[in-house]
Amino acid sequence: MPSLRDVLDEIVAEMAGYSDRGAVASYIPQLGKIDPNKFGIAVTLTNGEVLVAGDADEPFSIQSISKVFTLALALGRVGDTLWKRVGREPSGTPFNSIVQLEREEGIPRNPFINAGAIVVSDVLLAGHQPREAIGEIVSFVRSLADDDTIVVDGDVAGSERVTGYRNFALANYLKGFGNLNHAPELTLGVYFHHCAIAMNCQQLANAGRFLANAGRVPSSGHTVISSERAKRINALMLTCGHYDGSGEFAFRVGIPGKSGVGGGILAIVPGVASIAVWSPGLNARGNSMLGSIALEQLTKRMNWSIFSPK
Ligand code: GLN
Repeated sequence: MPSLRDVLDEIVAEMAGYSDRGAVASYIPQLGKIDPNKFGIAVTLTNGEVLVAGDADEPFSIQSISKVFTLALALGRVGDTLWKRVGREPSGTPFNSIVQLEREEGIPRNPFINAGAIVVSDVLLAGHQPREAIGEIVSFVRSLADDDTIVVDGDVAGSERVTGYRNFALANYLKGFGNLNHAPELTLGVYFHHCAIAMNCQQLANAGRFLANAGRVPSSGHTVISSERAKRINALMLTCGHYDGSGEFAFRVGIPGKSGVGGGILAIVPGVASIAVWSPGLNARGNSMLGSIALEQLTKRMNWSIFSPK
């Protein structure tokens, strides 16, 4: 088995050679300004070791990766009653699709498509002002990463709000079906802000550790969620974490992963490692193009897969 250090350095060198790096998301104007040549990767092992390479200390917009953290928080808040309002099936549709909502009477297919994550934001808003709910999400992420410097990028949140017509459409549609308890603009305020959390690869890999370690943060032993919930979140990441590219990601990479349109991916090797990779250019499904390739290479060279024997 090659050393993880060598593999990460090889991958960074290989990724630098790609000229086709995908397209940076521009529907959120603030994201369109990011340099497509950035590439970073960080691996936090469950034994506490952290290895980084490339632009791993540069913050980026975690976008939909935040949906993993809001799901964990919402499950802690309302338990399995969440599943009355959100499904657990892959959608096979793009992240911002509305078509299934009509057929399925306002119950989003899963918590990782936008419609599902908006319902999760609505759950987290219960009993709070939007800014309190946002504060609670940021505190949770900070505690997971053990890093109090993590913040929301207000420019990204604002940029998303002014161009968020599709998300407003989804929220209004959910409201029309009675699956939103707050005014759409309030729930979306929470949603846009958690998507705009900025983290670097190292912080993100640390924040994902609990999912690689049966719901517990390995360094502190602190239990974030039960091992059963960690297993289920990993299952949802595998089946739904890359939207209509989830099957392809499972096929090529073979571990749970959650992508964001900022070009980040959080991937989990249960019992072994939490991995964060960032390359801003996206493939046709809105998932990081080089991030996916890098994870495919990493898991292949380290023989990390939930489908093959150790
Ligand atoms: N905030 C983004 C949106 O709602 C999240 C999408 C994503 O990362 N796939 O469009």
